[in-house]
Amino acid sequence: MPGGTRLRCQSPEPDTPRRIRSRIAIAAAIAAAIFTLDALTPLDIAVAVLYVVVVLIVAPICSRRSMIAVCCALMSMTVIAFVMSHGGTYAAAPVARCIVSLAALAISGFLTLKNIAATDVLREQVTLLDLTSDALVVYDMKRRICFWNRGAHALYGVAAEDAIGRAPHEIVRTAFERPLAAMLAELLRTGRWEGELAQTCRDGRELIVASRWTLQRDAQGHPLAVLVTNNDITQRKRMELEIERQQQEIRAAIDAIPAMVWVSSADGRPVFVNERWSEFGVPLDRIGDSWHTLVHPDDLPQMQRDWRHALATGTSLENESRVRRGDGAWRWSLLRATPLIDELGHIVRWYGVTTDIEEPKRAAEALARSESFLAEAETLSETGSIGFSVPRFEMFWSKQAYRIFGYPDDAEPSLQAMLARVHPDDHARVSSLMKTAATDRNDIDAEFRLLMPDDDVKRVHLVAHAVAHVAKTGGEQSEYRGALMDVTEARNVQDALHRSLAELAHVTRITTLGELSASIAHEVSQPIAAIMTNGDAGMRWLERDEPQLDEVREALNNMLRDARRAGGIVQRIRMLAKKSAPNRVPFDLNALIEESAVLVQREIGVHAIELRLQLAQGVLTIVGDRVQLQQVVINLMMNAIQAMASTTGRPRRLAVCSSCTQANEVRVDVEDSGPGIAEADLQRLFQPFFTTRAEGMGMGLSICRSIVESHGGKIRAYAQPGLGATMSFVLPNSSSLLSVAVDGTKV
Ligand code: ADP
Repeated sequence: MPGGTRLRCQSPEPDTPRRIRSRIAIAAAIAAAIFTLDALTPLDIAVAVLYVVVVLIVAPICSRRSMIAVCCALMSMTVIAFVMSHGGTYAAAPVARCIVSLAALAISGFLTLKNIAATDVLREQVTLLDLTSDALVVYDMKRRICFWNRGAHALYGVAAEDAIGRAPHEIVRTAFERPLAAMLAELLRTGRWEGELAQTCRDGRELIVASRWTLQRDAQGHPLAVLVTNNDITQRKRMELEIERQQQEIRAAIDAIPAMVWVSSADGRPVFVNERWSEFGVPLDRIGDSWHTLVHPDDLPQMQRDWRHALATGTSLENESRVRRGDGAWRWSLLRATPLIDELGHIVRWYGVTTDIEEPKRAAEALARSESFLAEAETLSETGSIGFSVPRFEMFWSKQAYRIFGYPDDAEPSLQAMLARVHPDDHARVSSLMKTAATDRNDIDAEFRLLMPDDDVKRVHLVAHAVAHVAKTGGEQSEYRGALMDVTEARNVQDALHRSLAELAHVTRITTLGELSASIAHEVSQPIAAIMTNGDAGMRWLERDEPQLDEVREALNNMLRDARRAGGIVQRIRMLAKKSAPNRVPFDLNALIEESAVLVQREIGVHAIELRLQLAQGVLTIVGDRVQLQQVVINLMMNAIQAMASTTGRPRRLAVCSSCTQANEVRVDVEDSGPGIAEADLQRLFQPFFTTRAEGMGMGLSICRSIVESHGGKIRAYAQPGLGATMSFVLPNSSSLLSVAVDGTKV
């Protein structure tokens, strides 16, 4: 900038050729006029001094050289004019005027040359300023623009001619973060200001510029102008904003991850943790120093070992440890970390994620526990789980199912493998059952035999029901889920039970021997009496003078018939008769009832009867023959079951109740919801051979009565036709029975 109080700072615009030509013409005309005046007029003044005007006119368009040439030409013209006007006489005064003119020309030429040199420097500087891409603007203290470089033109789209002389706000609208007055005050105080400004151009473009303001002062220190350098950072700023937005988005995403994310330096120092770490109650900036205090003391050594190993080897890390939450609770967490390795193989960063696995861990433990319970239960109950899809029969077998089928655990479960084990006699039935299941999806409940490779036969009970579920491949699919029970043992026990029941019935018959004897004696005496009568008659017919053989034959036939009848009766006695001594001991009647209920469980199930045991509190001790009294209870229960077998349209209920009566007796009631007993039958119920059932013997209740009475008790039947029957028996309680036993009078 040129010095001085006036600021000249507009860019020196080069003159156009026309202007140059007109300047040269004017200068030449003036020079010619001066020369004419100097050479041809006899004026005694230094006219040639006026050549200085010519110098000043051509100065702006002259280079250094041309200016020297102009000065030399003008000085030559001065000398020529002097010679011409003074002829050969050179008086001192004209010579002095000529020298003054030459001196004036030399001085003005010298000064002009200096000025040209300065202007050249300025032009170079301005050209340099124009070369910069920054927008350079200078405005004076009245806020009038006095310099506007090409950068400003390019940035704001406004040419220097339009900008110079105007106020900056007329060219571009700037949003200042503070009032402009305050900013200018700061500029005046400090001489500098810099910051970022948002600007709107005349054409509506939004810009962000990095702006630097510098205050220029004159020699006296007065503020002269403000140099503004604006650098367009719009693009960079937008990118920065975009990067920041993306970073925030990534940060928000990382913070939202339901896991503790962290980044550490190559040597393992945490450099970043996400927001989730705040759940640990430790300030995020201190996690780096205190993470180890969050790890359970029992798990810390292992974690540190794993971490050290990962750091040393650069391998990924995986560790499960308990970590303490902000609420003080220890929760299992899974730590996974992996290194970022540069192209030279050096670890740059470690990226880690710590996930809360408390719930999955608990669920896994619970699952493992329940699986082990299930496996245990399956083993104990000899029940395997079995599942299969239909119609494709993709099968699942539990371990116990494998054991039941006798296959190794790694065998492929399949329908073929299952059918291969089914007993040949049951094969057709089972395969048709499975085929039907594939189409009708009905529940499966079947019992069949398996023939094992060692020829062992197992009896199994398969129950399964179909459930619909969405298949992996989409669409609904049916799957059977069920249980395969090895009932071999149970069936063996059941068979044994039936054998026992048969034996029990046999024992029943034995115990009634006394009673039967009386009945049978009554029955046998009648045919014997008839035999005797026929014998007598036959003798009489023989002893006649003329024996009547036909009559004898008839008597003998009658005798044979009656003897056969008697023989049959005797045969019955024989079959029933076996000696057994009563065995009386104290026992718990409640336990006996429960045991009896188990023995009749099969019949209860077969006839879909609801059994209820309502037993007296605690132990109900009785002294008696346990086997005989069990016969009584079983008999009464079986009678009730048989009576209800044909009951339809109402629930079949059987209740066995035991109690202590006020009369110091033990009472057992067997109630049913069967057809009840007709009033007339109630009287005959306990008589031998009274039965209303086609296949009945009519001995059960009479035997029961004899057993109960032999124990000093009583048995009765209560019934209302259509409302069920109750058979009750009472026995003296244990103490009285014991005393009876000790007396020996009844036992
Ligand atoms: P059986 O059972 O061989 O017929 P019982 O002496 O045990 O011989 O029974 C005699 C009869 O008593 C039965 O035929 C039946 O008519 C009747 N009875 C016994 N218990 C009941 C009962 N709970 N409900 C209805 N009738 C019964």
